[in-house]
Amino acid sequence: MTETELEEIERDYVRWYPARIAAMDPAGAWSRPTMGLYAHIPFCAHRCHFCKYKVKVGDDLHDEMDEFLDAMENEIRTVRQRGQVAGRPLDVVFIGGGTPSLLAPRQLRRLLDRITSSFEFTDDCEFSMEWSPASLSGEKLKLFREAGGNRLSIGVQSFNDDVLKEIGRDHTAAEAREALRLAHEAGLDNINLDLIYRLPGQSVADVRRSVRDALACDPAHVSFYPLWIRENTVLWSRLQKGELELPGEDIEREMFDAACEIFEENGYEHYNVFDFVRRSTPRCRYTELQWEDGEWVGVGPSAVTYMDGRHTINTYSIGDYVKRANADGAATAAGSVLSVHARMRRTMMFGLRMDPFDTERFRRQYGVGVDAVFGPELVRLVEGGLIRREGTLLRLTAEGVRKVNNIGKLFYEAPDDRQTLGLSRRGLPILEVDR
Ligand code: SF4
Repeated sequence: MTETELEEIERDYVRWYPARIAAMDPAGAWSRPTMGLYAHIPFCAHRCHFCKYKVKVGDDLHDEMDEFLDAMENEIRTVRQRGQVAGRPLDVVFIGGGTPSLLAPRQLRRLLDRITSSFEFTDDCEFSMEWSPASLSGEKLKLFREAGGNRLSIGVQSFNDDVLKEIGRDHTAAEAREALRLAHEAGLDNINLDLIYRLPGQSVADVRRSVRDALACDPAHVSFYPLWIRENTVLWSRLQKGELELPGEDIEREMFDAACEIFEENGYEHYNVFDFVRRSTPRCRYTELQWEDGEWVGVGPSAVTYMDGRHTINTYSIGDYVKRANADGAATAAGSVLSVHARMRRTMMFGLRMDPFDTERFRRQYGVGVDAVFGPELVRLVEGGLIRREGTLLRLTAEGVRKVNNIGKLFYEAPDDRQTLGLSRRGLPILEVDR
């Protein structure tokens, strides 16, 4: 180093870094003041034939649920004291599972009381819970509504009793209709209905009928997604034995197109790969939170938290969760600290699932244009006919919607770019699993 350089170093006083700054509007100056909460309730009456989730299944789980709620209360108590959470109002709450509506009324009240007394809420907080038609009741709906609940997600899956039996659901189409009627009667009109297609033996005509039946129940939102057969499920075993025939790729495509047409005719907007919303109703904020870089805390086994550029996951094991949450109020088992570049990749991967993707939001968030960072990837997507540009917006084409998972993979980072916490060398979470 020369003497002049040394003199300069001594003379300069570093007041901030980086030295180069550019104009920024207030929207980009502060990170999100609100946050979301996800609470995972891992109990189900019985296991659906396509399900691989880690849930406890049984007729009478109430003692275990009580023990579980003790642990969850303790985790919530700890969470709300954390610096990143304290004083930050919730604008999204999602109680999912499993089947949270399986909780007895007194248990549901206990959970809702714990949540409502532990956090502040924005006036327009979207407060959702998942329900199964078989465990939904007027009494539970009333408790939910009184606690501020305003959105239901009901797992209907199909309006065909034979199909429901085939996939191991514990309700009939008539029970699903009755559940929707009760929800409307309770004044809860913001209802999502889950519907699966590409089911064994299903035809395009069946799918059309199923979508029409669903819309006849007047849901505000429909999540319409294909059946994925995962290893070691009942349907997977039957597929291995050649006992099951699934519609092929062409038929699957026809099914999706047919459904899109019916949603469109009935005034539903297709805003996210598998999600359709009635045009007069706001989009699902919980979906937006996840795909548009919102921050949230997840409580319960296998719950994910995304906060401060950290993606963490609680232990999958219910037994381990109860032990750890009771002992020290935390059950994090794995996670990843994302570099800014990894966060940008995450923004692209998830953000492109939403229609449209606003490149100006990206610029506000990261202080750099999306083309400067992902120019080659975007050129490939446009040339491949998977996305198109409309001014500053990026939109998936119909083909892009079908291939959205592959699009996401274009933005994967190399595993070595990532600082990991509790991940194995293959990047998989090291988690205990007790089956
Ligand atoms: S209700 Fe959901 S979580 Fe429970 S067994 Fe069925 S698919 Fe799995």
